[in-house]
Amino acid sequence: GEALAVSARVAPLGSRLVLLLVEDLTEARRIEAVRRDFVANVSHELKTPVGALSLLSEAVMDASDDPEAVERFAGRMQIEATRLTNLVQELIDLSRVQNDDPLEDAEPVRVDELVAEAIDRCRHQAGTKQITMAAGGTADLSIWGNRGQLAAALGNLVENAVNYSPARTRVGIAARRVTAPGGDLIEIAVTDQGIGISEKDRERVFERFYRVDPARSRQTGGTGLGLAIVKHVAASHGGEVTVWSSEGQGSTFTLRLPEAAAARDRGIDHDMPG
Ligand code: ADP
Repeated sequence: GEALAVSARVAPLGSRLVLLLVEDLTEARRIEAVRRDFVANVSHELKTPVGALSLLSEAVMDASDDPEAVERFAGRMQIEATRLTNLVQELIDLSRVQNDDPLEDAEPVRVDELVAEAIDRCRHQAGTKQITMAAGGTADLSIWGNRGQLAAALGNLVENAVNYSPARTRVGIAARRVTAPGGDLIEIAVTDQGIGISEKDRERVFERFYRVDPARSRQTGGTGLGLAIVKHVAASHGGEVTVWSSEGQGSTFTLRLPEAAAARDRGIDHDMPG
C-alpha cells in the first residue's frame, strides 16, 4: 500500500521533472544555436573588410607606377580599416555590456552631460548633412547608472538618428521625469525626420547584426550592433528602450531609466533592516 501510494505521488512528479528537463534541453539548444549564429555572423562581418583590404593591398602593389591609383586605393583601404576598427570596438562594447553589471559602479549621471556628449559625438556627421540638433528638458535630471554605458546607449541612438535621416532635417532630444509605480524614471526621447522603420522591422532592429538595409548601414559605417547594445544597457539598468516610427516620416527611440535619487532611496531602503 505504502509503495503504491509513494509511486502514485512520484509518477506525476517524475513526468513533471522529465518535462522540466526537456524544456531545459530545448532552452540550452536554443542558446547554443544563438551563440553559433552569432559566431557565424561575426566571422562573416570580419571577412568582408579583411577581404577588401587584402584585394586593395594587391591593387596598390600592381599600381605602383600610377600615383593617382595608389592614392585612390589607399583611400579605400582607410575606409575598410575604419570599418574594421568600428566593428571590433562595438564587439568589445557589446561583450562589456553583456558581461559587466552596470550597477556595480553606478552613480548619479547628469542627463545634460550625457546629451551634450552624444551631440558632440555626432556634430561632424550632422554638420556635413546640415542636420540641426536640439535638446530640451535635460536640466536638473540625473539617472542612476554606469556613465560609460549610458553614454554609449544615448550616443548610438543619436548617431542612428543622424545616419538614417536625409540632409537638412532635424534631430530632437527631449528629456523628462516621469512618475512610475516602481520609482520615478527619466525618459529620453530621440526623434528624427528620417526614413523610418516598417512595422515588420521594428521588432527586429534590436537584434544583433539585424539591419533593414545592409548596404545603407555599411555605407554609414554601421555594424548592426548599436541597438543591441542600447537594449542591453537599458535592460541591465532596470529600464527599457522602445521605438515608435512612421515610414518615410521618422522615428522616435525612447529610453526609460531609473531616476538617480529615486533609485538610491530604494537601494538604501533595501539595505535597512525592517
Ligand atoms: P547600424 O550599425 O546598422 O546602424 P543598429 O543596431 O544601430 O545598427 O541599427 C539596426 C538597424 O535599424 C539599422 O541598420 C537601420 O536599418 C535601423 N535603424 C536604426 N535606427 C534608425 C533610425 N533612427 N531610423 C531608421 N532606421 C533606423
